[in-house]
Amino acid sequence: MFAVTQAPNSIHTGWPAYRAGAVLSVHLDAVVHNYRLLKARAPHAVCAAVVKADAYGLGAAQVAPALVGAGATQFFVAHVDEGLALRPHVGAQVGITVLHGPRPDAVEACLAHGLRPVLNSMEQIGWVRAVARQRQQQLGVVLQLDTGMSRFGLSADDVRQIAADPTLLDGLKVELVMSHLACADEPANPANAAQAARLVEYAAVLPVRAPLSLAASSGVFLGPDYHFDLVRPGAALYGVAPHPGAPNPLRAVVSLKAHVLQTRTLSRGDRVGYGLTWRAEGPCRVATIAVGYADGFIRARANGSAWFGGQALPILGRISMDSMTVDISAIPEGQLEADGMVELLNDTYGVDDVARAEGTIGYEVLTSLGHRYHRNYEHAA
Ligand SMILES: *Cc1c(COP(=O)(O)O)cnc(C)c1O
Repeated sequence: MFAVTQAPNSIHTGWPAYRAGAVLSVHLDAVVHNYRLLKARAPHAVCAAVVKADAYGLGAAQVAPALVGAGATQFFVAHVDEGLALRPHVGAQVGITVLHGPRPDAVEACLAHGLRPVLNSMEQIGWVRAVARQRQQQLGVVLQLDTGMSRFGLSADDVRQIAADPTLLDGLKVELVMSHLACADEPANPANAAQAARLVEYAAVLPVRAPLSLAASSGVFLGPDYHFDLVRPGAALYGVAPHPGAPNPLRAVVSLKAHVLQTRTLSRGDRVGYGLTWRAEGPCRVATIAVGYADGFIRARANGSAWFGGQALPILGRISMDSMTVDISAIPEGQLEADGMVELLNDTYGVDDVARAEGTIGYEVLTSLGHRYHRNYEHAA
């Protein structure tokens, strides 16, 4: 048995943090700042918040209440289960919409917990209408229209069919008509305007009038033609750049610090990691840090780095499941040793930078972060 001793304390690395390989700080004040910024960009629309996938991996139980505090009254999740999990954290007054809508057996669960389904197909319309009939009740729903992405939503044919027979919506109270942009991160792509025009055109054919919604994060930054009555940002709340390559108006939400497990000095010809793929060209110092691909830093990553005091520490060789090795030659000896910490995400090297190094997008970096970090939620003031 080891004797239990109190670990040294620093601002973000108290005792529980010391047991984990790394500390993920989620800055809820930055989430709130980003929410307000998005709301200001679309002042005439309701600004909903998308908190699917556990608020993009950051913890819906913490993020959603912070957003409620900032004035959010409408939330979107993907699955019915996510809506059930979210309800206790936001209270009964807040709207929760389920993007995927229910399968037949889940309609009752939606109603019992006040979850509003998005109906994406004639089948889903049928399933919800059957429950409406049974209960002799009008049920509030969102209709999604496919305006070009061929992923979710009623087709042009479905819309025409409903126009020809409005009884197909009997029992449903259509509270919102929505669609989703396929290329909103490419402002110059003509598909954006084409989708917006199709949303207006199809909605006009429907036998009901309801508010419209098209924009997610990037769509908010395409301008007022895309805002309609409700915008649905997710990624931007969490600091992901709406238009890659352009300046990011949003505040970084996560920072990540990993423990240094050990350091060593290598000589020319020494190799590092599985497959011995990296070879020292000369003497250098390396550190093994306690974050690996099980923590969301994908093994195929090519050009990433950790950071210490503003200095990049290139990742050497292959990333292991629980660790990776970084070059610390640039750090004067004695400044970074075992038990120190390096940064993997900070204010200047964020999820979009990691994504660029890994050949993916900030969304995937966030949702891959995993469950082993000690999480430190910095609350909104
Ligand atoms: C995920 C999602 C959003 C939020 O998208 P972001 O790009 O993260 O803002 C909005 N609407 C729909 C339909 C979605 O699936």
